[in-house]
Amino acid sequence: MDIKGASAIVTGGASGIGAASARRLANRGAKVVIADLKAEDGEKIAAEIGGTFVAVDVTDTGQIEAAINAAVELGPLRAVVNSAGIGWAQRTIGKDGEFASAHNLDLYKKVIAINLIGTFDMVRLAATAMSRNEPNENGERGAIVNLASVAAFDGQIGQAAYSSSKGGVVGMTLPVARDLSAVGVRVNCIAPGLIDTPIYGEGPESEAFKAKLGESVLFPKRLGIPDELASMVEELITNSYMNAEVVRVDGGIRMP
Ligand code: NAD
Repeated sequence: MDIKGASAIVTGGASGIGAASARRLANRGAKVVIADLKAEDGEKIAAEIGGTFVAVDVTDTGQIEAAINAAVELGPLRAVVNSAGIGWAQRTIGKDGEFASAHNLDLYKKVIAINLIGTFDMVRLAATAMSRNEPNENGERGAIVNLASVAAFDGQIGQAAYSSSKGGVVGMTLPVARDLSAVGVRVNCIAPGLIDTPIYGEGPESEAFKAKLGESVLFPKRLGIPDELASMVEELITNSYMNAEVVRVDGGIRMP
């Protein structure tokens, strides 16, 4: 699918995988809206790629609508990348030795609200806008890529909320892809492994981080870089025959 002259939205586009994806889509000629909480970083990326920053909290439907309206002003909305997300927030057991204090419900709900419900809210509203586009020669009106995680498929320490949210992103992507085939909107999902971005609050020196890196099957062992994810985002947006797929981009860290 050609996205030259079309608009695109990248949530979480102020950092990491989102920023790298925004650069890739801009290189393809799309007019990119960076939709993120972080105004300073978002404005910087937008200026670099000739895009537009819109302050968006993906848990706020009105702000998602504002980003979609801003994009549609620039051109038909043909590409959406849902990269906004938070992670790595829990201990296994609370300092008091209690499981419940580490896994408090407020935290659980926050992770689900941002990573899963925020993603779905953008999907449903963006798909509605895309369904008004003129179809291209393949009958396509748009394409959406959701960022899940290999955490959707495994059981890592302290990841109950994160794995639930990312398993939900996979579970949501597949039926939605079927629903949206009726209007020519493709929906795919990427499951990254361990990518070098600011998302790991505890950072590369943490034991959990080192343990995960230790599982790498690449030699030498290394993290992925954001552009290695962004190239798959670009492929899934532009390859007209990719639909309802969940692609692991993880250097083999979670081979089945
Ligand atoms: P990052 O922290 O570099 O970027 C995430 C961006 O999302 C940030 O700019 C942040 O401001 C934004 N964001 C957070 N909450 C938001 C909200 N409520 N509304 C709008 N924006 C919000 O992280 P990243 O590593 O680039 O992660 C991108 C996506 O990939 C996330 O969904 C993450 O869960 C997923 N992922 C990352 C990794 C990894 O190893 N880095 C692995 C698996 C999955």
